[in-house]
Amino acid sequence: MTPPLFEARGLGKTYRLGEARIEALAGVDVTIEAGALVALAGPSGSGKSTLLNLLGLLDEPDTGTLKFSGREVQALPESEKTLLRRRLLGFVFQSFHLLPVLSARENVEYPLVIAGVGRNERRQRATEALAAVGLADRLDHPPDRLSGGERQRVAIARAVVHGPAALLADEPTGNLDSKTTAAIVDLLFRLNQERGTTLLFATHDPALFARAPRRIRLADGRIVADERDGGG
Ligand code: ADP
Repeated sequence: MTPPLFEARGLGKTYRLGEARIEALAGVDVTIEAGALVALAGPSGSGKSTLLNLLGLLDEPDTGTLKFSGREVQALPESEKTLLRRRLLGFVFQSFHLLPVLSARENVEYPLVIAGVGRNERRQRATEALAAVGLADRLDHPPDRLSGGERQRVAIARAVVHGPAALLADEPTGNLDSKTTAAIVDLLFRLNQERGTTLLFATHDPALFARAPRRIRLADGRIVADERDGGG
């Protein structure tokens, strides 16, 4: 049987700021199957980003365990975690995080440069990834000549160009107007449906949250609701 993609038990994270201790996550149990589409909501400061960072192997929990594809993450050396992250995960953020001096295509090629993919294949895959997000005619544009929605499309193309198992998105539409939001969400949902890419996204937007077939609510670092549509 295929193990779940993410399996967290008692996951906790406390930040220390001088004397102050902030318990960002207070023991989260969650299992996410490969191919799932999961929305994460909760007030500001409820731990959404912290949870995404832990599941995305970007940060270490203080307590609890995380299995990624059945492998106990804490037992892995840092180099192995980095490899898993680069090969199997993709990230999208509210503020796009594109490199301003690179064109759209060069931004999308960047993770493939790090992965050691040769120049021709890199170019081809980046071009295809941009075409898949509707930007075939924007390959050479730098980010500052793209709209907000187009920038986020470039960021999504960059996040999936290596064919990750999961895409983790932290407020991916937080900086976009409602029409652009709808288009970006359609794109993310399509990636999930057509490619089977597991999608986990945090959002403040109730309408967007409601669209996900599985909806997890956080409050004060804990999961307070975990709902699924019937039959899925
Ligand atoms: P959310 O994404 O739901 O807004 P976060 O996971 O960003 O919540 O934050 C949870 C709590 O942890 C908040 O109280 C926040 O201020 C705190 N926090 C997050 N990151 C850090 C950090 N790097 N240093 C100190 N406190 C942090």
